Amino acid sequence: GDRLAGKRCLVTAAGQGIGRASAIAMAAEGATVFATDVNGDLLDGLEGMETFVLDARSDASVAKGVARANPDVLMNCAGFVHHGTALDATDDEWDFAMDLNVRSMHRTTRAALPGMIERGTGSIINMSSALGSKIAAPNRYVYGVTKAAVVGLTKSVALDFIKTGVRCNCICPGTVESPSWHDRVKALGEQMGSYDAALQAFVDRQPMGRVASPEEIAALAVYLASDESAFTTGQPFYIDGGWSG
Ligand code: NAD
Repeated sequence: GDRLAGKRCLVTAAGQGIGRASAIAMAAEGATVFATDVNGDLLDGLEGMETFVLDARSDASVAKGVARANPDVLMNCAGFVHHGTALDATDDEWDFAMDLNVRSMHRTTRAALPGMIERGTGSIINMSSALGSKIAAPNRYVYGVTKAAVVGLTKSVALDFIKTGVRCNCICPGTVESPSWHDRVKALGEQMGSYDAALQAFVDRQPMGRVASPEEIAALAVYLASDESAFTTGQPFYIDGGWSG
């Protein structure tokens, strides 16, 4: 397809999961894709796009990566799931999660906005979650806080730059199959004494009776990156198999 022809798309955390699927889907729609991750090894095998290491927690790395990509589309995918309640989270864990899940988007947005404003066009796509922004889940205290914050960040950026041609939206998925999700199932399985029971618990939380594939989320990312979504900004988009509906 050519729905993203002529667009330069920078994706963070494109090494695996939703970020990787989104980079592939954007390239398939004719975009010039810059697929980045803090772990360069994970970028192996991504064809038809430029790949390089970008650490979303580093100002210098973000500045360098944004200058190289000069993106029309910025997809902020980097994020980490902390496990625990308000009584479990250490200050260091809180700071790490806020930095990786929220401040990273502040970093990339500040770096990418001037170029977008100059060209009069841009789409920023942030990864939030149904969890935190709309619904709580057990032992997802810090994670939920960060994903709710992403909605606030998204709405502020959308409003402040609404006349510039730059749009900013966020994606709020339910549970999506990804390498880190498999790790979470394994961890819960150890707690419950059964991997299958843990898997079933995750699936049961989705009223559709299954989790999403990363490609299903990538399809929404392509829409938000494209001019098809030109009249939408400041919105969280729920794609959660009916979880929070
Ligand atoms: P994942 O968690 O399996 O992979 C995360 C990727 O982030 C890895 O490639 C990792 O190397 C990269 N990364 C870690 N630190 C980084 C840094 N400092 N800079 C750049 N990259 C870094 O992938 P996923 O599960 O698809 O999650 C992607 C995003 O989607 C996250 O923000 C996550 O919170 C969000 N999300 C995931 C789900 C889900 O169920 N999987 C649901 C809702 C939202």
